[in-house]
Amino acid sequence: MKKPKAPRVPVLESAFEVNLPKLLSAVKASGRPEVVLVDGDEHTVAVVAETRLAVHLGGRVWMANIMAVPCLNSRLRPLLKCPRAHEGNFQSLYWRRGELACRHCHALRYRSNLAAGAAGRARLTRYRLLQNMGGQPGDVMPSRLPRAWRKRYRTLADRLCKVSTIHYDQVRFQLEKNHIKERGKRNSAAQNRDDITHNSAS
Ligand SMILES: [Zn+2]
Repeated sequence: MKKPKAPRVPVLESAFEVNLPKLLSAVKASGRPEVVLVDGDEHTVAVVAETRLAVHLGGRVWMANIMAVPCLNSRLRPLLKCPRAHEGNFQSLYWRRGELACRHCHALRYRSNLAAGAAGRARLTRYRLLQNMGGQPGDVMPSRLPRAWRKRYRTLADRLCKVSTIHYDQVRFQLEKNHIKERGKRNSAAQNRDDITHNSAS
């Protein structure tokens, strides 16, 4: 089996994420300011205070200020300031190459931004939908999970149908293109053979 290519551009989805809304809901649920962060194999501890967040990463403690940013409905939304202290507030900071910083500082991109076009995005959406519906990557249409809502399942199934059509159209197009190219190669090889026999005959 072919090994999947490693992404050349760092993507958000593969960086260690420190997400403030998630941390705050964990603090609210447990009633304690310390939260254990788990992302894949990495574990660490974060302490959330009123205006500051402390995260232990890479053998030191990183501090990030929490800003209350006014949003719609005159509410205040807590957002993180990047430890590099530039303009802008963020929901998430990322740990990469020994530094906790925002996605701009790390030049992280969303995986969907790296998709080559509509077909690439459709393939990604299809993969995510399949996961949400509890299916496997090879499934055409996963069956409804025992506890899933029927209406929600129908909505997801409709969406999956749409993106699958785009995805399979692209696959068919690619196969046809390869087929035409192969046939072209075969024809030109046959042509060359004919030329050689003609030349040797004359
Ligand atoms: Zn930054």
